[in-house]
Amino acid sequence: MIVALAGGVGGAKLADGLYRGLPSRDLTVIVNTADDFDWFGLRICPDADTVMYTLAGIANPATGWGIAGDTFEALGMLGRYGRDVWFQVGDRDLATHVARTERLRSGMGLTDVMAELASALGIDAKILPMCDEPVATEVLTPGGPLDFQEYFVHRHQSDTVNGVVFRGIEQARPTGAVLRALTEARAVVFCPSNPIVSIGPILAVPGLRELVARHPGARVAVSPIVGGRALRGPADRMLESLGHDVSAYGVAALYQGLVDGMVIDEVDAALAPRIEALGMRVLVAPTVMVDAAGRTLLASKVLDFCEQILSTR
Ligand code: GDP
Ligand code: CA
Repeated sequence: MIVALAGGVGGAKLADGLYRGLPSRDLTVIVNTADDFDWFGLRICPDADTVMYTLAGIANPATGWGIAGDTFEALGMLGRYGRDVWFQVGDRDLATHVARTERLRSGMGLTDVMAELASALGIDAKILPMCDEPVATEVLTPGGPLDFQEYFVHRHQSDTVNGVVFRGIEQARPTGAVLRALTEARAVVFCPSNPIVSIGPILAVPGLRELVARHPGARVAVSPIVGGRALRGPADRMLESLGHDVSAYGVAALYQGLVDGMVIDEVDAALAPRIEALGMRVLVAPTVMVDAAGRTLLASKVLDFCEQILSTR
């Protein structure tokens, strides 16, 4: 079994490639839940839902999030009632949040709720929230702290990020399902997700960083930074304002001691020696996943890299 650590859009793409590429579909995706928030009384889990819709084959290909062909009638009506509707929720997407919130209110844990939803969408892989406790990312900006979605969606990531806080993380515990998955995993793949606010919270769940650091399987990360830039989103600006190198090397440095190998893009091949000096192997590959074939190709290269690492131990 393969474990993938993922945030939203970038993570979901590689998770999808792994899912389609693994013969037995023996994949468990541990997803960031620190983006989760309440919206008109409904619980929304943006990264978990992005992974779920992607694996179910119903994600909106244009945005990477939301459901393909979704309509926004309910949102429009909320707007007519004078509500602030900067967070886009489609009508079908809304049903996910209604169904999830109902289950959570009845006392079911998020892990079980997501399992129910994913199974209803026909997904064979496991999509596990990093924990069942609510955790909320806050970004520290010159103008003060901002809730993550306020920063990310409402203010379009325009603020400088001088720090991040994962509220509630001290009370979080790895779930039994996450512990079992990591125990059984042959390999742990860090998807090309934002290392600060997508992979960061997963590793910050008390005990998880240590489990990955001591993991006997092959641990491989794919850089979300290509040619010194994020393909989308604020990962590059965040790395810079938080004092990290804005490159695949900067990402590798953040994962030092946690991964055996780093997958970097062909345009970054020259960084390989510096990354290897951090004590990890490097695979140079085309890492920009433009279509389904690109996802499965990268996934197969990642899996071969894992096998190579395991075979030379
Ligand atoms: P979010 O939660 O929706 O912001 O998504 P993630 O944290 O999972 O992913 C965001 C990161 O994915 C960004 O830093 C992008 O650079 C990266 N990304 C998106 N698509 C690709 C891709 O095709 N290849 C690589 N290597 N990175 C990607
Ligand atoms: Ca996210």
